[in-house]
Amino acid sequence: MTDFYAVIGNPVAHSKSPWIHAEFSRQTGQDMQYEAILAPVNAFPATVAVFRERGGKGMNVTVPFKLEACKLAGRLTERADAAQAVNTLVFNADGTLGANTDGAGLVRDIMVNLGFSLTGKRVLLMGAGGAARGVVLPLLEHDPSILAIVNRTQQKAHALQQQFSCYGTIVSGDYADILGEKFDLVINATSASLKGELPPLSPGIFAAESLAYDMMYGDGYTPFLQFAKQQGASRLADGIGMLVEQAAESFFLWRGVRPETGPIIKMLKLHT
Ligand code: NDP
Repeated sequence: MTDFYAVIGNPVAHSKSPWIHAEFSRQTGQDMQYEAILAPVNAFPATVAVFRERGGKGMNVTVPFKLEACKLAGRLTERADAAQAVNTLVFNADGTLGANTDGAGLVRDIMVNLGFSLTGKRVLLMGAGGAARGVVLPLLEHDPSILAIVNRTQQKAHALQQQFSCYGTIVSGDYADILGEKFDLVINATSASLKGELPPLSPGIFAAESLAYDMMYGDGYTPFLQFAKQQGASRLADGIGMLVEQAAESFFLWRGVRPETGPIIKMLKLHT
């Protein structure tokens, strides 16, 4: 029997998730369908309920519902609880499980696809919004020597430091606080690239053999990746790998099968 899944968001038409999951199900021979559902901003729980009544087995949750999904889930994984954001819902006889696969997706892209070890490295995370919150714990699980979190509104970075300091060494502040510091990995988890902007980074931020990672993906280099190239970062990556890897983690939670992500990442990179 065909099982039904969906991505729910507003807007959602631009989402690549239906295509990615169609490829995963073709590749693994799973009998499932995956659609995009546009929910009115004030009707997230009702839209989820209708999907469940139709026999839906799971959902991906995107902007602006990740927080609401957290409240809707009866149980949360440790990562979703820590992030207070859910991007994956699993519906079963026990109720609704909320998970957050963004961090696992980022870490897998960095460590497996890009072959960059986090252990002992100096990592800079820019931004303190939903995406940043979801990746702090998975990054710390791989023992960087330090995780620096900077944000335009520095109180939000401090709040993240306080929340996660029991898991590893974290410092936080605004961009002026990292003047003169060098990092092995710089992750852009801000939405600056969406507006064609560059976070206020100072020159000289990249250590030798460093990786610049922008969670944003799309046409060409973002302003951050252009800056990183000019500043001599050794490697540049956009967020396509993270997108596909977080989808694969969701797929695994739903189906218990891990799809091969390499060919899908390759195809998406060719078409963006
Ligand atoms: P949020 O709106 O929750 O957070 C935005 C963050 O960006 C805030 O910290 C904000 O700072 C900061 N910011 C915005 N503009 C600027 C600027 N010009 N300079 C410096 N900082 C800025 O967004 P999300 O966390 O949900 O998303 C962030 C990015 O991550 C987006 O580009 C999104 O597309 C991407 N993403 C990619 C995924 C993937 O799979 N590849 C998955 C999830 C997200 P302040 O607090 O001061 O306002």
